[in-house]
Amino acid sequence: MKSLQATGNKLADTEVQLAILETATDGTYQPIPFQEQLIQHSLYPLKPTHISTLQINVGKMCNQVCKHCHVDAGPDRKEIMTVETMESCLSVLDNNPSITTVDLTGGAPEMNPNFRWFVEEIKKRNRHIIVRCNLTIIVANKKYNDLPQFYKEHQVEVVSSLPFYSKERTNKQRGDGVFEDSITALRMLNEVGYGVEGTGLTLNLVYNPAGAFLPPDQKALENDFKKALFNDFGIVFNQLFAITNMPISRYLDYLLQTGNYEKYMERLTNAFNATAASNVMCRSLISVGWDGYLFDCSSFSVVKIGHFS
Ligand code: SF4
Repeated sequence: MKSLQATGNKLADTEVQLAILETATDGTYQPIPFQEQLIQHSLYPLKPTHISTLQINVGKMCNQVCKHCHVDAGPDRKEIMTVETMESCLSVLDNNPSITTVDLTGGAPEMNPNFRWFVEEIKKRNRHIIVRCNLTIIVANKKYNDLPQFYKEHQVEVVSSLPFYSKERTNKQRGDGVFEDSITALRMLNEVGYGVEGTGLTLNLVYNPAGAFLPPDQKALENDFKKALFNDFGIVFNQLFAITNMPISRYLDYLLQTGNYEKYMERLTNAFNATAASNVMCRSLISVGWDGYLFDCSSFSVVKIGHFS
């Protein structure tokens, strides 16, 4: 499987995605714009609270090509954050002590050749680091096998996607062999203390639906994951986050290809949750793209990071 970009799919273009999301409907339902929902719930305008987290996407390269991927990542994507842009991010940290957390994402962030240097530099600045680790990268190549130890040494919080605690549902979404490799990687993380009570090493898992449906209750799902992973594989972890798939990029392509787009959008619109909306992460987080562009969706703006510091 290849990325949308590599196959020349028109959905690789964000503008095309936006046009579909703003207009497409078969007449069976009328989408309510997010802004209108906010007005109806007296939440408009939804303003930033304070900026405590800098989320940095260090590149689109990934060892996987998941069907639902929201960033169209994969081995064929070569976009990678440069050292110069990383240095700009570090100077943002130097100039903004209120930013206490750095959230590293990708692609597989570990595939950026300067990833470890970047983590070390951020740690020197005494920030809490979260890495979105897809798990399989740890076993993808010998050079990544010591990542659990590296994470431990730098007290990195690991957040990892695991679509389900069974092989079939995980491999269906993320590719053949992903479940088995994820289990091996989780064991390696547990071995150095991740997810183990009393170690202070946090290992959180992320569930997202494998089809055109919304996630079930987070707490109940966490209990099911904890029971199944421990009973079947002796694996422990801290918390499970159940997230909803955004109808964008490869997931949007999946919805359109399977004829589920209208039904999913209706479900999504009807499930609007005012409490969740008032706590969206972008109220306290600013996101930097691999090319240094800064995305602040709460003010609907995009600027080059140099202007931020
Ligand atoms: S592991 Fe993450 S970044 Fe990589 S293809 Fe899957 S969803 Fe996308």
